[in-house]
Amino acid sequence: MSINAEYHKFDVIVLGAGGAGLNAAQVASKYCKTAVISKVYPTRSHTISAQGGISAALGNEEEDHWHWHMFDTVKGSDYLADQDAAEYMTKSAPQMIIELEHLGVPFNRTPEGKIAQRPFGGHTAEFGKRPVKRACYVADRTGHAMLQTLYEKSVEQGTYFFNEFIGLELLRNEGTVNGILCWDIQNGGFHIFHAKAIIFATGGCCRIFKTNSNAHINTGDGVALALRAGVSWSDAEFIQFHPTGIFPAGNLITEAVRGEGGYLINANGERFMEKYAPTIKDLAPRDIVSRSIMLEILEGRGCGPNKDHVLLKIDHIGKDAIMEKLPAIHELALVFAAVDCTKEPIPVAPTAHYQNGGIPTNYKTYVVKGCGENPEEPIPGLFAAGECASHSVHGANRLGTNSLLDLVVFGRTAGQEAANYALNNKFVPLKDNAGEFGVKLIEKLFNSNGKYTYYDIYNQLIDTMQKNVGVFRTEESLNQALKDIEELENKMEDFKLNDKGKVYNLELLEAIELENMILLSKVLTTSALHRKESRGGHYRDDYPERDDQNYLKHSEAFLEEDGKTVKIEYRPVRLKPLTVETFPPKPRVY
Ligand SMILES: Cc1cc2nc3c(=O)[nH]c(=O)nc-3n(C[C@H](O)[C@H](O)[C@H](O)COP(=O)(O)OP(=O)(O)OC[C@H]3O[C@@H](n4cnc5c(N)ncnc54)[C@H](O)[C@@H]3O)c2cc1C
Repeated sequence: MSINAEYHKFDVIVLGAGGAGLNAAQVASKYCKTAVISKVYPTRSHTISAQGGISAALGNEEEDHWHWHMFDTVKGSDYLADQDAAEYMTKSAPQMIIELEHLGVPFNRTPEGKIAQRPFGGHTAEFGKRPVKRACYVADRTGHAMLQTLYEKSVEQGTYFFNEFIGLELLRNEGTVNGILCWDIQNGGFHIFHAKAIIFATGGCCRIFKTNSNAHINTGDGVALALRAGVSWSDAEFIQFHPTGIFPAGNLITEAVRGEGGYLINANGERFMEKYAPTIKDLAPRDIVSRSIMLEILEGRGCGPNKDHVLLKIDHIGKDAIMEKLPAIHELALVFAAVDCTKEPIPVAPTAHYQNGGIPTNYKTYVVKGCGENPEEPIPGLFAAGECASHSVHGANRLGTNSLLDLVVFGRTAGQEAANYALNNKFVPLKDNAGEFGVKLIEKLFNSNGKYTYYDIYNQLIDTMQKNVGVFRTEESLNQALKDIEELENKMEDFKLNDKGKVYNLELLEAIELENMILLSKVLTTSALHRKESRGGHYRDDYPERDDQNYLKHSEAFLEEDGKTVKIEYRPVRLKPLTVETFPPKPRVY
């Protein structure tokens, strides 16, 4: 082999140790030799910060059905969700919650001892008639409880862990995916992981926006690796802006605050969501609430000296309720806004929160080509789950609490399918030059001696993304962003890595992530420019209507042979559910 690296062999490799990766790993490890690779120690993955809950039509607090949940998911997605996947997820949900509970997740309880549930944005009973309590929760630390539990389970199952390793390149041979090239962050040096099946579970990319709710590691690496290996990015333009980021820091205030009775007010003290969504008011889907806040601000009813945010009021539910159900929110508001929310409202504004699109898969989590003649054809050996994937259940806009559900449902399926694939297939040999791209990238960075550092370029990138590709977009703003990004690509050629050491070189890590973020920003903006309509998280001021005639389809962005030029194709939405049942079905009895 031509590359100087340490070699490893596993049946299944999972890239990413968030909820999706760990659930996949704990399942796959039961059947075959499985390793997880993660940039950070597993329990530092972003899933740890998920607050509000995980949805399932358990019907523990009031009547509920998975059909209603599926309807809300498809409607919330602005009809871009693939309906086979939406059915698969919502139907599996109650069983998944029971499974999590059996694994040890300490869900909050009702007085009779059932798993408690709270309302969340966009979740309704009887097909949109009224809000329903569907989100299961562990106070406002649901992701924390889930991730710890899934990590313990993976360790128990004998999963191998390579923590603080960053994936640089997805390896392929004759159409099949067969390995990953990684850099060992702690010690320096390359590692090649040869595998029969690979699961991508690398999370989202919202660090490309200036105001965002994401962890520093959410730089979209997995999608960048997939793009460079010829896989498309499905529905890239649909970024979810969560309505209630603490202003101005961006950290998340969970929708559970509004689920527990909190509401938004403008500078005149008006509860303005009554005007924009008279039925479900503050619990309307996130894209609607975000745009409503921005309209209040743009029309001069924002709060503060610059009229640039609104207020989230929760003190009226009482200190005891806040400290019991929303303790982390109380702490976050104190630390990041110096506000005691048991006494005063929290300043909030929309914050980039979630990547709705991702690596395209079918509902069994096989990554599909996405583009070309047969876009639904699976790529042998490659699976994806969680936020980096587009199964697609979230379409143009994800409902709150549907992501944690997506992680466990599709994480589990990915673990099963990848193990099954590995048990029935042989190792495909690595190409002689496997890993060449990643090695050249690292060499280029170590030899760099130009003018610009990470922060020169990163700050400009997030500025232009925030200003030009945010809640409201136009052809002009998107073209401006593309121009700025091109300039930053050129600056990257004149980059300087100051730290040339191999051991724990965090500047090197940031530079690799920056390469990925610039690529993703370009692809996302190009997709947004091509979609000349408004739908879900993508709002075009110059095309304010949804246009089903021309755009009821997934956009698929991919790179041309030169590895730089972005092309856009479209793929039909799978509008047919898996089954067609007559409603109402019998409620589940446990
Ligand atoms: C503040 C906040 C609150 C939220 N609250 C909720 C909620 O209440 N309910 C809900 O449903 N959803 C919520 N979400 C969304 C949800 O938490 C995330 O979408 C979900 O946790 C993502 O999980 P994941 O497993 O896909 O990825 P993550 O948990 O983000 O993990 C990604 C993993 O990939 C690894 N990785 C990435 N790139 C590389 C690389 N190049 N090499 C090696 N490893 C790599 C990382 O180390 C990490 O282990 C929230 C999100 C945020 C930000």
